[in-house]
Amino acid sequence: MKITVIGKSPAWQDAGGACSGYLVEEGDTTLLVDCGNGVFGKLREYVDYAAVDAVVVTHLHSDHCIDLIPYSYALSYSPRARAFPHPRPTLYAPPGGRDVFRQITGAWNAPELVEQAFCLIEYEPQQELTLGPLTISFHEVPHFIRTHAVKVTSAGGSFTFGADCCPNEALVEFARGTDLLMIEATLGAPEEGGKRGHLTWAEAGAHGRAAAARRLVLTHIAADDDLARARADAEREFGRPIEIAVEGATYNI
Ligand SMILES: [Zn+2]
Ligand SMILES: [Zn+2]
Repeated sequence: MKITVIGKSPAWQDAGGACSGYLVEEGDTTLLVDCGNGVFGKLREYVDYAAVDAVVVTHLHSDHCIDLIPYSYALSYSPRARAFPHPRPTLYAPPGGRDVFRQITGAWNAPELVEQAFCLIEYEPQQELTLGPLTISFHEVPHFIRTHAVKVTSAGGSFTFGADCCPNEALVEFARGTDLLMIEATLGAPEEGGKRGHLTWAEAGAHGRAAAARRLVLTHIAADDDLARARADAEREFGRPIEIAVEGATYNI
């Protein structure tokens, strides 16, 4: 299983960058996890977007799903659209996703844009999905809206993406022993006041250690943040070297 970082920015993309998007490939099977702003154009540098088997969305914040809109336009109206294979890519959205997409694109009177472009299925987080040689499972994690961590398992091992979350045990249990944990590390220090929704660099390291992840990659982090301190904070808690996601990085499991 090969994982490529298509985009790793937090809610605003880096210069020339993209928000959340991770390409998972095994044999002929292609899966995109999240499709945030900037991801669609970057995806095209790696694969034929019409040949992606499935897109899985962790949650319905814009930095994780908004490029489904240009993706839908391409599947519907591009010069190649008529020749695209059927069925189209399957879009596994969180429960309630259909209504959210209808609201967004309904603002310009195209409420069914996304569901007509993709084969849209709202996943049941308790149920595993099978995609060729890949098994996809979900676990809810605490964030500002309903959000699911995703684990992709193949014969070679497992890749876990923590999505966006505040400190929690659920992710630790879900990711236990995973070969690669891609974990959000948005913050240098905890949010002050109000509900927490993200992890600090140190917390990301601590979660990786508690989960006994074999390899830990920090993501959802801005390129102009203090990456040296992020690395130091995370490694101190993880107890071993970590990596910080960069676009185009690949990981083999
Ligand atoms: Zn979010
Ligand atoms: Zn996010």
